[in-house]
Amino acid sequence: MRIDPHAHTTASDGTSTPAQLVAEALGAGLDVVGITDHDTIDGWAGATKAAERMGVGLLRGVELTALSAGITVHILGFLPDPDYEPLQAEFAAIRDSRLTRAERMVERIAVDFPITWPQVLSHVGPDATVGRPHIADALVAAEAFPDRNAAFAKVLHRDGPYYVPHYSPDAVDAVRLIRAAGGVPVFAHPGAGNRGRIVPDETFDELAAAGLAGLEIYHRDHSDEQYPRLTRIARALDLFVTGGSDYHGLGK
Ligand code: AMP
Ligand code: ZN
Ligand code: FE
Ligand code: FE
Repeated sequence: MRIDPHAHTTASDGTSTPAQLVAEALGAGLDVVGITDHDTIDGWAGATKAAERMGVGLLRGVELTALSAGITVHILGFLPDPDYEPLQAEFAAIRDSRLTRAERMVERIAVDFPITWPQVLSHVGPDATVGRPHIADALVAAEAFPDRNAAFAKVLHRDGPYYVPHYSPDAVDAVRLIRAAGGVPVFAHPGAGNRGRIVPDETFDELAAAGLAGLEIYHRDHSDEQYPRLTRIARALDLFVTGGSDYHGLGK
């Protein structure tokens, strides 16, 4: 059984539609693919239809953006009840705030680079979760940078003058919310130090106490020293271990 539980689509900041993601998973020889868009489950419907048609297993999930003592963390939630109202309300709150935040970032960036808000929106799928990768796409289209990575390195990173935060729930609350929705919470790329600060060891105790079930240890943004560290933490707290591609189509 080959499974990749962590992938994005045009419902957030991936470049493949949910149906394309399933087709690409089939082409890559996967038996099961996870759909884990940022702060939305709107891609589930299209992915489910495609998965049934193509005979691919679909792991329905979401990647919630959260905060732990000022540090941005991503909590994967697998198989939450899609009709659980508090979860839907939280998605809406985060996505609304992301929209305002992206527009503010674009205002700041437009002082120095040739982009406009409508140009950025042209890279966002219908009702998709807006993120910095869409701003990167507009910068690439304007030929300011060769690719998303370069735009992140120079303009979009967290410590730069253009960065604006958005509303995120506390990580402990995010874990509890996924549990309350009947889902399985997994801490995504908990040691991805290339994206900004990472949480200290004590945070894992708090999250485990709140109901965290697993750690995504195998991830492209983890440096070598994270594997022994995170493996030790997972064993100590009896958390299961996952890995995922965090596929974003052509975007990453
Ligand atoms: P946001 O959620 O708007 O703060 O943007 C963060 C998202 O941007 C992450 O979830 C990644 O999907 C993506 N990302 C972060 N760093 C990079 C990078 N260097 N190149 C491309 N995408 C990135
Ligand atoms: Zn993303
Ligand atoms: Fe993530
Ligand atoms: Fe992701």
